[in-house]
Amino acid sequence: MTLPSEVDVAIIGAGAAGLGAARALENSGLSVVVLEARRRVGGRAHTIMAAPDITFDLGCGWLHSGDKNSFVQIAGQLDFEIDKTRPPWREQSFDIGFPPRERADFIEALDAFYGRAEEAAKSGRDNAASEYLEPGNRWNPMIDAISTYVNGSELDRVSILDMEAYEDTEINWRVRRGYGALMEAYGALCPVALDCEVKRIDHSGKRVRIETSQGRLSAGKVIVTIPTNLIASEALRFHPELPAKIDAARGLPLGLANKVMLALDEPEALPKDGNLRGATMRTAMGGYHLRPFGQACIEGFFGGRFARELEDAGDGALAAQGIDEIAALLGNDFRRKLKPLSESRWAHDPFAQGSYSHALPGHAGKRAVLAAPVDGRLFFAGEATSPNFFSTAHGARDSGERAAREVLASVAGE
Ligand SMILES: Cc1cc2nc3c(=O)[nH]c(=O)nc-3n(C[C@H](O)[C@H](O)[C@H](O)COP(=O)(O)OP(=O)(O)OC[C@H]3O[C@@H](n4cnc5c(N)ncnc54)[C@H](O)[C@@H]3O)c2cc1C
Repeated sequence: MTLPSEVDVAIIGAGAAGLGAARALENSGLSVVVLEARRRVGGRAHTIMAAPDITFDLGCGWLHSGDKNSFVQIAGQLDFEIDKTRPPWREQSFDIGFPPRERADFIEALDAFYGRAEEAAKSGRDNAASEYLEPGNRWNPMIDAISTYVNGSELDRVSILDMEAYEDTEINWRVRRGYGALMEAYGALCPVALDCEVKRIDHSGKRVRIETSQGRLSAGKVIVTIPTNLIASEALRFHPELPAKIDAARGLPLGLANKVMLALDEPEALPKDGNLRGATMRTAMGGYHLRPFGQACIEGFFGGRFARELEDAGDGALAAQGIDEIAALLGNDFRRKLKPLSESRWAHDPFAQGSYSHALPGHAGKRAVLAAPVDGRLFFAGEATSPNFFSTAHGARDSGERAAREVLASVAGE
């Protein structure tokens, strides 16, 4: 769509939060535009066909807390099939390199760590989650690896109170045609101006003036949904400045998770929806989902500092690491059966600069600070503003709906 010169509500960003806000304002009678820097909607939800018969979610893939996830109902309405196969994360196919007894020992150590963390959070003191690792426990590096997948960061940079605030119902489902594809369908009718990067928001006058790469417009209300790293680095500037928002965003950095998709020859040799951990005694390793949905492929997942190192090493580094780790487990013969198809690069993505937010130790309260409206005209949404479903796509969407409700209440009060 072409950029209007005036609107009632401008929404910055067409990810889950921005689309959630736009959908919630659909029948409000207010004029709305969503300003999106990319040439597509969805943000950190992005499905590609890595090969003609291989669906690959470069960003979100799991409907976490499926029984409380608002995208489950939306998927039903839009006729997207949901796969309820249990995630294989606690398994090791063929028991290779990680026999059942070791696995049980690890799970015990992991659950004990979560138990200590839960207990510690009751004190209300906000420490680094790493403080609740048992000193000298041999599984600590692997518990840290799990944190790099869940938080995108090692435990030394994760707030214990934030970790405990997350609501995990342990029900994890998937969208067969891709979470990103679902997001695209959800936003299909939203009034989005693509390729329209917002550079400056001037809220000094009665109406908010917005400068974009496509020109200027003014709005009565603005909902900002861009990722925290972009607020923290002031990639988008506010006038007057909003130091409390910048400070909050800096306390909620995006951790890093990256994925690689490998095509698999002779797939029958491996179980459908199987799992392999690349190693057991270190943090720097990949996790491998074998034949997701039964497809002829393996999806690798890397998190935290190791994911950053691999991404910085350039295109193909995730695939090379994945093939090395899988070959070390299944035999060198597997090298010729695996072919790199695609990999994500979220840290270098200028409109994400990371994967999902976690609170730094001492900063758990910053989610509420980031979410708070300013002067009844600027509103904030995005996964990082969700009190209990942060770091997820449904948390982002629900936050957009919450910001839309705040806009409506403020309009009604004028
Ligand atoms: C590898 C990976 C795996 C993940 N796995 C899962 C998972 O399994 N389940 C799950 O629920 N979540 C997962 N997530 C997290 C989930 O994808 C995000 O939490 C969610 O999509 C964030 O939505 P959002 O609307 O808050 O932000 P975004 O999706 O980032 O949307 C913000 C939008 O703002 C745009 N933008 C940025 N700057 C500007 C600007 N200046 N002007 C205009 N537009 C701008 C961006 O292009 C983007 O489209 C994963 C993420 C990654 C990267």
